[in-house]
Amino acid sequence: MNRWSGRTLFSSLVRYKQNRPLAYRIFIKLLALSLLLALISTSIQVYNEYRRERDSMQQQTDFITSSHIEGIRKGLWDLDSEQLLLQLKGIMNFSNVNAVTLRSVDWSDGDIVVGTPPDTLEEGYGTTFSIYYVDREGQETDRLLGELTVYHDMAAIQSRLLRSALEIALFQSGLVLINGLVLLLIVHLMVTRHLEYMASYTRTIGAGNLKLKLVLPHKARTGQEDEIDAVVNAMNEMREAILADIKQKDRIEEELRFHRDQLQEQVRRRTQRLQGAKEAAEEANVAKSQFLATMSHEIKTPLNGILGMVELLQRAPQPEDSREKLAAIYQSGEALLEILNGLLDYARLEEGMYSPEILPFSMQDLVNSTCLLFSAQAQEQDTQVRVNISPELDDYYQGGAGALRQILSNLVSNAIKFTEKGVVTISVIPAKDDPVHSDHNQNEGVVFEIEDTGIGISEVFQAQIFERFSQADESITRRFGGTGLGLAITAQLVHLLGGEIGVESEEGHGSVFWFYVPLTAMRDRHQAPLVPPVEANETLAPMSILLVEDTPINQAVTIELLQQDGHRVRLAKDGLEALKLTAETRFELILLDIHLPGMSGLDVAQEIRGGGGLNAETPIVALTANVQPSNVKKCHDAGIWAVIPKPFSRELLHQVMRAQTHGSDIAVAPEVGQDLLDMTLIRSHLTALGKQRLSKLVTSFSQALQRGLMELREMNQERDDYELAEIAHRLAGDADAVGAQQVAQALREIEQQASAGEHRDYLADLDALETLYQKTVTVYGQVLEDA
Ligand code: ADP
Repeated sequence: MNRWSGRTLFSSLVRYKQNRPLAYRIFIKLLALSLLLALISTSIQVYNEYRRERDSMQQQTDFITSSHIEGIRKGLWDLDSEQLLLQLKGIMNFSNVNAVTLRSVDWSDGDIVVGTPPDTLEEGYGTTFSIYYVDREGQETDRLLGELTVYHDMAAIQSRLLRSALEIALFQSGLVLINGLVLLLIVHLMVTRHLEYMASYTRTIGAGNLKLKLVLPHKARTGQEDEIDAVVNAMNEMREAILADIKQKDRIEEELRFHRDQLQEQVRRRTQRLQGAKEAAEEANVAKSQFLATMSHEIKTPLNGILGMVELLQRAPQPEDSREKLAAIYQSGEALLEILNGLLDYARLEEGMYSPEILPFSMQDLVNSTCLLFSAQAQEQDTQVRVNISPELDDYYQGGAGALRQILSNLVSNAIKFTEKGVVTISVIPAKDDPVHSDHNQNEGVVFEIEDTGIGISEVFQAQIFERFSQADESITRRFGGTGLGLAITAQLVHLLGGEIGVESEEGHGSVFWFYVPLTAMRDRHQAPLVPPVEANETLAPMSILLVEDTPINQAVTIELLQQDGHRVRLAKDGLEALKLTAETRFELILLDIHLPGMSGLDVAQEIRGGGGLNAETPIVALTANVQPSNVKKCHDAGIWAVIPKPFSRELLHQVMRAQTHGSDIAVAPEVGQDLLDMTLIRSHLTALGKQRLSKLVTSFSQALQRGLMELREMNQERDDYELAEIAHRLAGDADAVGAQQVAQALREIEQQASAGEHRDYLADLDALETLYQKTVTVYGQVLEDA
């Protein structure tokens, strides 16, 4: 039972220590201090007791001396042992005396002993009295009679002292314990329980519950603030401060949310606006492309007719002067076509990518045929046209012949236009011999001068004459008409050829327009194919051909051309008629105009290919004015085998027809880029655009892809998947258009993954794409070189 209660006390003490460590520590320290004090006080008390005992022993000794010494002296003198024994027993009756011994000097029987004296006489344990003889006068003498030793009971004294010490210590300890417990209770009631409550309150504040104010439940109000109240007040102030903080934080958050929402809204609106602007720009771009396509169709279709008709006329026997004129018309038409193609390219690319096609040409032919064009007008105005071509010049040059012809035409036409009854002199000299424009003396090139004796140009106007839409004054415009664009285009063309242009003039006395162009002379005559040789002798076996064409003049030209070669031609004026005819008859070749009324040529091709009819396998060759790579790609996707640009020349038509029927082809090494490149499409591009223009296109594609790759890397770093997908999409379209099929495929994969959300690092894919692109460009270059 006792052991159990001991254990419970111990465990509750441990629990108390754990739960209230501070109170426990106070309790223990208080207890230790109180015990120490109790010990000191007990010691003082015991010491006092001891002193009291000693005093009482001294008193006893004094009493013994006064009451018993005389009797013992007498007994010793009388040698009365009985008397002495009696006396000694009398002393034994004193408290604290446990033995008495008497030694007599005159006694021979030994000491008289009462009680049991200890063996040795320790100090303080006994008192020895020497007893001397007293004479008659009552004076003590020197004669010793004996010695009386009284032994004190020290053990009894000690045990008494010990008992009383224990009693005091116990009492004091009990008091201290009770005191400690009471103090502990007071500390608990006045401090610790409040501290505990405050701790639990602080925990609830920590958990975010700030609604309740701290009020100690058992705290007595004394009207005066004590330390606990000060802590409570401080905590309540802290709670208020936290609440104010939270309120402020909420307000700031609210404001932030508001601004974020506003920002989001602004971004949304701006994105919407940008999206709108982008769509508008795209629409405008589409509209521009459509406009260009329509314009090129509209201009090229009649041009096709003109050139076709001239070609037909050239094949019939003609008088010599007519033959010359026809050649001039043909060459001018071709020049016009080249300029048109160039300007269309220029407009389409919008990046100044236009560069005139560099061809070998005869200077004499070029200048004479250009001047011939205006001879009728000159005659009408009674103006003489003189041509001075320096004998120092080479016969053949390599350069932008088409552009040169256009420049010359513009300047000569102006000179004649503004000169009535005068002289227009066209001089062509090597730049090194030019005395006026000495800047070019060192250069290999040619200077052209167009001098007239016409109305001249004022000095003020000369300064702005090469600007767009500039004309001298109203009266001249009214008299001579015009748009003010001619000289601007002329100047631009001269600059494109790397040359310079200028004017010197005096009002009323005529003008001199000059321009310099760098040209490379061709000293080897065999290098210079003047006019493309007409391979009249090379004929194809007669075929049955379906021509799908809506323009009457082109119908007439193409049918005539084909029939002259012995082919049987059926005509369909639109898509529906073509489908009807292909359903009834099997043809060996279908020549299909893409720009048809109603059903487009692409739909017709798709219908014929997919219909599984008689002509599902018949080669279809497209005739189109729009040879933009994307359009050629569309033709291929629709099942068209080759694309011929309009207006087409007879040889190109022959070349393609041969390729389609005999399987021979434009010389392109097909095995080189089998997988990397779409060789069929590239062959079409070569037919439609020519090698030079296709090379230019590939160069601009390669530049675009290099730029695009850099952008893709940047977007990958910025983790902008949207832009990544957009750029990849755009580049894939470009790659597809030029026939870089593997690059397009790789780009499409990146596009798909990027638009599927969930960003990943595309670095490895972009590295692979770069390698693939390098390989593609190398192989493409090889293919173009071999073509
Ligand atoms: P257009 O002739 O179509 O109006 P141009 O750009 O060819 O446009 O010419 C711009 C203007 O420069 C002409 O309107 C005319 O006033 C002046 N000009 C051009 N060539 C001559 C010339 N040989 N003699 C006098 N004035 C000329």
